[in-house]
Amino acid sequence: MSLDINKEKLIKEDKEHLWHAVSKYHKNTVPMIAKSGEGGWFTDIDGNRYFDGVSGLWCLNLGHGRREIAEAAYEQMLNLSYFPLTLSHEPAIKLSAKISELLQGSYTTFFSNSGSEANETAFKIARQYHAQNGNPGKYKFISRYRAYHGSTMGAMSATAQANRKTKYDPMAPGFIHVPAPYRYRSSFGDASDPELLAANYIEEVINWEGEETVAGVILEPFMSGGGVIVPSPQYLTRVAEICKAHNVLLIVDEVVSGFGRTGKMFGFMHSAGVEPDIITMAKGITSGYLPLSATSVKSSIYNTFKEEENDSHFRHISTFGGHPASCAVALKTIEIIERENIVKQVEQNSRDILSELHTLEQLEHVGEVRGIGYLYGIELVEDKQSKKPISDEAIANVIAKCKEKGLIIGKNGDTVPGYSNILIMAPPLSSTEEDLHFLVDTVKRCLTPLV
Ligand code: PLP
Repeated sequence: MSLDINKEKLIKEDKEHLWHAVSKYHKNTVPMIAKSGEGGWFTDIDGNRYFDGVSGLWCLNLGHGRREIAEAAYEQMLNLSYFPLTLSHEPAIKLSAKISELLQGSYTTFFSNSGSEANETAFKIARQYHAQNGNPGKYKFISRYRAYHGSTMGAMSATAQANRKTKYDPMAPGFIHVPAPYRYRSSFGDASDPELLAANYIEEVINWEGEETVAGVILEPFMSGGGVIVPSPQYLTRVAEICKAHNVLLIVDEVVSGFGRTGKMFGFMHSAGVEPDIITMAKGITSGYLPLSATSVKSSIYNTFKEEENDSHFRHISTFGGHPASCAVALKTIEIIERENIVKQVEQNSRDILSELHTLEQLEHVGEVRGIGYLYGIELVEDKQSKKPISDEAIANVIAKCKEKGLIIGKNGDTVPGYSNILIMAPPLSSTEEDLHFLVDTVKRCLTPLV
């Protein structure tokens, strides 16, 4: 009885006081309220158990309830509860060095709290870098249509999904969009190598805008929220070449793909020889246990901010960025990823999962299955010939059916109206074999009756 009263009160207070992210308000719908979690599973206040096939918001990479992560935060909070990074503290120093080691280069890191902030930081660094290197006119950024880079003004301006932006126009000036390397719906007709054309298009834009005006290109190595777009490794290699040739910084958004999601520690590492100028990270860096993000910059760029005799320092600050407890949690998260050989496991298991999911392509409503590591997209269409996206209602039905069977999956964000037709899965990287089997099996069962 007391539980029910508590539940009623929670729902009432939720409706009145809690503003939910992106969700529409529904007077008569009760939101799912989670109560506890264990591994990749969570339980709601009614006692229903669900497998989280999207790792929260693609961040809960090691699952719920890792005692050693919680203890790392607890001990750090008792020992040094807060300290600003205008000065320094041990967890941030150690984490910045560890990130540089993981990136396999010499990188210096600025810490913030979210992926959006990490990208904002990258834009400011890029503009200042060019300005103090004799190129004050280099201020524009190129990003790809469909991409999501965050919700703050600059990150939203780099985001190229109309529905997320139109109510908030005008965007920040200087953000230009180009086609994604999206083979299934290519912007380049029937061309045999649309990915190469998509990469070369970036060069065309740089030339037409004037390379003296372009500061950077920002991209995810594998577009996640934009619909799981997985180009061949050569795409990023070609973009990197173009950036280098035009003195344009390559900013790789590893907010989703970082820390093992794609079967390598970072997504850009699938393209041998690519060394991004700036790499942004968040989400998996703490496995979602505490907020933290990072903007890591090649030493050659950071060096230009170190000139003591002129005014070259970075005038940027974040009160909570690099919080000692968040850094301690990140260090513990990375320790577990390495100790448990998580990245290798993701790489190995993903082959079986993908080949299972590919069998769905026999269904008339499955246009294409795409994926890498533990990141999967299933593009649903009315029929294979027309490739017309299935309706919002039909995809919502599939997601609801999975939920009834205890599986949470997602779909791609609001790109343009009618194109939210891609089922998305991104299970925790520490999922058990049984968990993964449950994910694949449930998705298959929920899709099959669509035919
Ligand atoms: N970049 C990418 C690729 C993302 O998917 C997201 C969020 O989903 C962000 C940036 C923004 O991260 P945050 O929500 O932590 O600001």
